[in-house]
Amino acid sequence: MEFKNKTVLITGAGQGIGAGIARHFMRETASVYLIDINSEPLNSWLTKSPSAAGIAEVFIGDVTQPEFIDSTVESILAKEGKIDILVNNAGIIRDNFITGISAEDWDNVLRVNLKGPFLLCRAVVPGMREKNYGKIVNIISRSWLGNPGQSNYAASKGGLVSLTRTLALELARFGINVNGVSPGFIDTPMTRGLSEKVRQHLLKLQPTGKMGQPEDIAEAVAFLASDRAQFITGQILHVDGGKSCGILSF
Ligand code: NAP
Repeated sequence: MEFKNKTVLITGAGQGIGAGIARHFMRETASVYLIDINSEPLNSWLTKSPSAAGIAEVFIGDVTQPEFIDSTVESILAKEGKIDILVNNAGIIRDNFITGISAEDWDNVLRVNLKGPFLLCRAVVPGMREKNYGKIVNIISRSWLGNPGQSNYAASKGGLVSLTRTLALELARFGINVNGVSPGFIDTPMTRGLSEKVRQHLLKLQPTGKMGQPEDIAEAVAFLASDRAQFITGQILHVDGGKSCGILSF
C-alpha cells in the first residue's frame, strides 16, 4: 500500500492504458481523479468496479483546454490539499505518410499529446513545489524513436520526451520527479482500431511475439511514481517487449 495517502490524477482514463493505470492505483489509494474527454467509456468501466465507490472521481473534458485543466486541478486541490502523482496518458493517433497528413491532424495530435501534458504539468507544479513532493509520469511511445506513417505522432512524443527531461532538470530541486514510460505495442482500443494487416505486421516485429497489456504499463508507471524511484528523474523507461532494442532481422 505504498500509495495509501497519495492523491493521483490520470488523464485519458476512459479506456486502454489509462484505465489500466487507474485500476492499479485504485487498488492502493483512496483518492484517484480521472480525466477523459468522453464520459461513456469511463463511467461504463467504473460502474462495473465496485471498489471505485468513494475512491475515484471523474472530470469530463479536453486536456487541451487550459480553463478546464486549471479548474479541475483547483477543485482537486480544494478537496485534497495536494496532488502527489500526475500521469499524463491521454493521447491520439492520426496516422498517415507525410503527404497525407492534413494540417488539422498535425495540430490535433500535437495539441493532445504535447500541449495537454504541458497544461497539466503547469497546473500541478505550483502545488507540488509547495509540498516539496511530486511525481509526474508521461506516457510516451516507442514511436518517438521514429516510425514511418506516424511523423505527427512521433514528433509529439519526441516533444514529450524533451518536456520530460527539461522538467526533470527544472523541478528536481523541489522534490519533483519527472519520468516517462514508453509503451510498445499494447492491446487497447487504440491498437484494436488498426487494420488486421497492420496488426499482424506489428506482431511480426515484436521480439516477444505478443502484445503487451495495459497492466504492463501500469506496473512501470507505479514504480516511477513510487518512492522506490526517488533518485530516478528525466528517464524514459521503454516497456515494449524489447522492440526498442533494434530490428528483428530473423
Ligand atoms: P486509447 O485506447 O485511445 O485511450 C486513450 C484515452 O484518452 C481515450 O479514452 C480517449 O478518449 C482519451 N482522450 C483522447 N483525447 C483526449 C483529450 N483531448 N482529452 C482527454 N482525454 C482524451 O489509447 P491507449 O492505447 O490506451 O493509449 C494511451 C496512451 O498510451 C496514449 O498517450 C498513447 O499515445 C500511448 N501509447 C499507446 C500504445 C499502444 O500500443 N496502445 C503504444 C504506445 C503509446 P476517446 O477515445 O473517447 O476520444
